[in-house]
Amino acid sequence: MVVTRFAPSPTGKLHLGGARTALFNFLFARKNKGKFILRIEDTDKERSKKEFEEDIKNSLLWLNIEFDSFFRQSERIETYKELIKKLQSEGKVYKCFCTKEELEAQKLEQISQGIAPRYSGRCSKLTKEEISFFERTRSYVFRIKVEPQKLEINDLIKGKVIFDTLLIGDFIIAKSEEEPLFNFATPVDDALMGISHVIRGEDHLSNTPKQIIVLKSLNMPIPQYAHLPMILSKDYSKLSKRHGATSISELKEEGFLPEAIINFILLLGWHESSDREIYSLNEAIEAFSLERIQKKPAVFNEKKLIWFNRYYLLRKSPSEILSLTYKDFKEKYNFQDESYILKIINLAKERASTLKELIENSFYFFEEPDYKPELLIWNKAPSTAIKEFLEKTLNVLEGIEEKEFNPEKIKLELSKLSPNDLGLVFWPFRVALTGLEASPGPFEIASILGKERTIQRVKKAIEKLS
Ligand code: GLU
Repeated sequence: MVVTRFAPSPTGKLHLGGARTALFNFLFARKNKGKFILRIEDTDKERSKKEFEEDIKNSLLWLNIEFDSFFRQSERIETYKELIKKLQSEGKVYKCFCTKEELEAQKLEQISQGIAPRYSGRCSKLTKEEISFFERTRSYVFRIKVEPQKLEINDLIKGKVIFDTLLIGDFIIAKSEEEPLFNFATPVDDALMGISHVIRGEDHLSNTPKQIIVLKSLNMPIPQYAHLPMILSKDYSKLSKRHGATSISELKEEGFLPEAIINFILLLGWHESSDREIYSLNEAIEAFSLERIQKKPAVFNEKKLIWFNRYYLLRKSPSEILSLTYKDFKEKYNFQDESYILKIINLAKERASTLKELIENSFYFFEEPDYKPELLIWNKAPSTAIKEFLEKTLNVLEGIEEKEFNPEKIKLELSKLSPNDLGLVFWPFRVALTGLEASPGPFEIASILGKERTIQRVKKAIEKLS
C-alpha cells in the first residue's frame, strides 16, 4: 500500500515550498488509494513552537490537504530511546565523549593530511574502563557506526544517485537518550509508520544516505525516495521572505483563495504533457504522477499566482465571495448590511485580484473619499468649466426620481450634458464619487451609493473647486 507523509519541523509557518511537498505527498497517496500522514518533527525543543504546528495544521486544512493520521515525534521519545539502546547493545551505536576542541583538532589534522574531515571514530575504540570513566566526567552524544561503502539509491525523480559513506563517517544520531536527531527519528518513523514513498525537497538529498544507514542498522525497510526540485525566485535565488508573502497563512490574509494556491503550487515542478493549467484538487489527484515531476528547479512567479487567483475569483458567485469576505468587510468598515455588500461584490469582483484588494478598493462605498481638487480636472480643461459641469450634473441628478436612480438612467441623462466630450462630465463625476482615477463604472457606483449620497459627494466636489 502507498503511504506517504508530510513531516515538517514546526520551526516556522507553512510556506509555499512546504505546502507543495505536502500537496505532492497527498496527491500521490490519494491517486494510489493509499494513506497520507502528517508528522510533526518537533524533537528540537528549542526551535519547535506550538504556534507553528498550529499554523502548519490549519494551513493544510484550509488548503483542503487532509491527512489520515497525525503524529508528533515529541510523543514518541520512548520508541527512539529503545532503538538507540538496542543499537548500542549490538555495538552499532556508541557514546562519543569528544569535546568540541578535540573534534576541532581531529578535523585540522585530517585537513593537513589531505583527508576530507569526518569523525575519526576515536570513541568507538574506547575500553570499558575508559567509557565508565568518561561517563562520570564528560557529557556525550550517540554516534552510529558507518561502514565505508558505496550506497546507491534509485531516486524516483533524480534517478540513480551514489553516495560514498566513507565521506560521511560515524555521525551523531542523538544528543542524549531523550534527544534523537532528525536523521535518526525520521527514518525510524518512516519505517514504523510503513511509509512507502518519501517525497520531500531536494535539500534533504544529503540526509538520505544517513537515513538509509540507520534503517540498515535496524534491519528496517527502506522506503522509495523522490526528491523534489527546489523552488527558486524569479532572479534564481532561493525563495525567501524578500520575495513577498510566501507563507500560506500570509497568503490567506492577503486574500488568496485555496484553490488558486493549490493550482499554483501543483505546477511548481509538475505538469502534464499537455499545456493544461487549470486543475481542481480532484482533477489534480486524477492527473498526478511522480514521473511528470521535472528535475530542474521550479521558478516562483508571483504574477502567475495572482493570475490563478483572479481566475478562481471570477468564477465564484457574489454570494460565495460574500461569505468569504463578510467578516472582514464588517470589521474594516464597521458595517453589516449584507445586501449592500453583495451589490459591491457584484460590481467589484471583476477588477480585483484578491479578496483583500476587493475589500480595500471598495472603501468609497463606506466612507467619503479624500482627494485633491486637481484630480477633478479632465484633460486640462479650466477648473471653472469642470465646476460648471459638476453643477449641471448635480441638477440632473436631483431631477432623477429616487426609484429611477439606476445606472442606465443616470448614464443616459448625464450623457446629454456634453455629448461631444463625455469625459468632461464622466471624469469629475467618477472622482467626486470615489476620489480615484480608475474604478468600476461611476453610474453603477452612484446607484449603489443611492441618490442622496451621490448628490452629497457631487456637492463636495463643487465646493473643492470653489
Ligand atoms: N522535518 C524535516 C523538515 O522539516 C523534513 C523531513 C523529511 O521530509 O524527511 O525539513
